[in-house]
Amino acid sequence: MQEKQQTLRLAFRRREFIKAAGAAGLLSTVQAGLSGCYDPKCDAPARILIVGGGAAGVTMASLLRRACPKAVITMVEPSDRHYYQPGFTFIGAGVWRPDDVWMHERDLVPSGVTWLKDSAVAIDPDRNTAVLKAAGKIAYDFLVLVPGIQQNWNQVQGITRECLGLGNAHSIYDFEGSVRTWRAMQEFVRTGGRGVFTDTWTKHKCGGAPKKICLLGEHLARKIGTRPRLSFNYFTAEKQLYDVPLYTPRLEQIYRERDVPLRLNSKLAGVDVSAKKAYFEDRATGKIFTEDYDFLHFAPPQSAPDFVRESGLGWTEGKLASGAWVMVDQKTLVHKKYPNIVSLGDVAGIPTSKTGAGVKKQAPVAAANLCAIMSGKKPSAEYSGYAACPIITDYGHVIMCEFNYDKQPETSFPFTLLDTSRELRSAWWLKRFVLKPYYFRVMLKGWA
Ligand SMILES: Cc1cc2nc3c(=O)[nH]c(=O)nc-3n(C[C@H](O)[C@H](O)[C@H](O)COP(=O)(O)OP(=O)(O)OC[C@H]3O[C@@H](n4cnc5c(N)ncnc54)[C@H](O)[C@@H]3O)c2cc1C
Repeated sequence: MQEKQQTLRLAFRRREFIKAAGAAGLLSTVQAGLSGCYDPKCDAPARILIVGGGAAGVTMASLLRRACPKAVITMVEPSDRHYYQPGFTFIGAGVWRPDDVWMHERDLVPSGVTWLKDSAVAIDPDRNTAVLKAAGKIAYDFLVLVPGIQQNWNQVQGITRECLGLGNAHSIYDFEGSVRTWRAMQEFVRTGGRGVFTDTWTKHKCGGAPKKICLLGEHLARKIGTRPRLSFNYFTAEKQLYDVPLYTPRLEQIYRERDVPLRLNSKLAGVDVSAKKAYFEDRATGKIFTEDYDFLHFAPPQSAPDFVRESGLGWTEGKLASGAWVMVDQKTLVHKKYPNIVSLGDVAGIPTSKTGAGVKKQAPVAAANLCAIMSGKKPSAEYSGYAACPIITDYGHVIMCEFNYDKQPETSFPFTLLDTSRELRSAWWLKRFVLKPYYFRVMLKGWA
C-alpha cells in the first residue's frame, strides 16, 4: 500500500514536473526570442558593486555580466539560501513543502560575478565606498542597491521575530513562519474557533499575501467540512480592500459571499499572545479596539534596511520618507542625487507594489540605464510601474492582478484574452506550476 502511494506520488510529481518544465521551456523559448529587445552593451572596465543577492540582485548580476564584459562585478549577499518568497504562501497553505522554495545562492550567482558572503552596514555615496560587516571597506564606481526589505516585527507591541507562532500568532512573511502557519492552520480548521487575519500599515511586499492566506484558510475549512465551526475576519490598515479598481469589486464580493467580514482602517498595534488578544488602532478615529482570536495571521511593518536610511540614500520627504525607501526616479530607477547608483526591487522608493514580478520588468530598465551612464550617455529606458500580485482566492483559482503606476491593468499574454477581473483556473496553473521554474530558470538568468 505504502509502495503504491509512493508510486502514485512519484507519478504525480512527474506529471507536475512535465507540465512545469513544458511551460517553462515554452516561456524561455519565447523569452529568448524576445531577448533581442534588451541589448545594452558597455565596454567600460568599471567596478560594479551589487548589494543584495535576492530576486533583483541576481537578475541584475546576470544582465550586467552579459552587457558589460570588461566590468568587475561583485555581489554582496549574506544568505546561503535564495528563497522564492511567493512560495511562502503555498507553504502556509500546505500546497508546497518548505524545501520546494529555495536554492543554494552559490548555484545562482552567474559565472564571472564574485559573490561576497557578507552584508553591507554602510554606504558612503560621496566617496563611492561601502562598508561590509566582515570585509570592511570596498570601493565601487557604480552601485546597484538591492537589499530588499527590513521587517520590523517589534513595531507590533508584544511581537518579536523569535516569538513568531507563540499564542497562535503567525506570519507567512518569514520562511519558518510559513512552516508554522501551515501546522497551526490545520489544527485551527480541525478544532474550530475565531480567525483574525490582517496586513500592516507600512508599504509591504506582496500586498495580496495576507488576503490570500485568509481565503485559502477559509476554503480549507470548507473542504474538510468544518466551516460552520469557524469564523474568518479580515482587518486591513487601508481605506479599501484593494486599490486597483478593476479587481476591487470582485474581491470584495468574494469576501461577502464567503462570509468573511471586512473592517477597514485597522492598524495592528499589539498582540497579547498569552491572552490571544489583538489590539488594533482605528486609523480614522485613533481609538484602540480589541479582538479575541484563536488563530491570528499578520504581516510585519516594513521599511528599507537601516543602513540605507543612515547612508542618506532614502527619500527624506513625501509618502516614501517614513520607510526611507531609496530615492530613485520612478521611470529610470537612477538615484536622484547620485547618478552612479541604481536601485530596484523592494527597497526602491517608487509608488508601486513591491513584487518579484515588478523586478522582472525593472531589471532590464535599470541595467540598460546603468550601461548608458557607464558609457557617458543619458539614461533613457523607462519602467511603467508594472507589478503583478496574483491573488489566490481558493485551492484552484487566482485573480491575475497586473497593473502599472496609474493602477491601470497591464495584462500579460495570454491573459489579455481573458476576463482578469475574475478568478481564473488558468492563472492557478500558472501560479502553481510555471512561475517558480520561470523565476529560477528564466528571470534570475536575465532572460525575462
Ligand atoms: C509571503 C510573500 C508572498 C509573496 N508573493 C508574491 C507574489 O505572489 N508575486 C510576486 O511577484 N511577488 C511576491 N512576493 C514579493 C517578492 O518576493 C519580492 O518582491 C521580491 O523578492 C523582491 O526582490 P528583492 O531582490 O528586492 O528582495 P529580496 O528578494 O528579498 O532580496 C533581498 C536580498 O538582499 C539581502 N540583504 C539584506 N540586507 C543586506 C545587506 N545589508 N547587505 C547585503 N545584502 C543584504 C537579503 O539577504 C536578500 O537576499 C511575496 C513575498 C512574500 C514575503
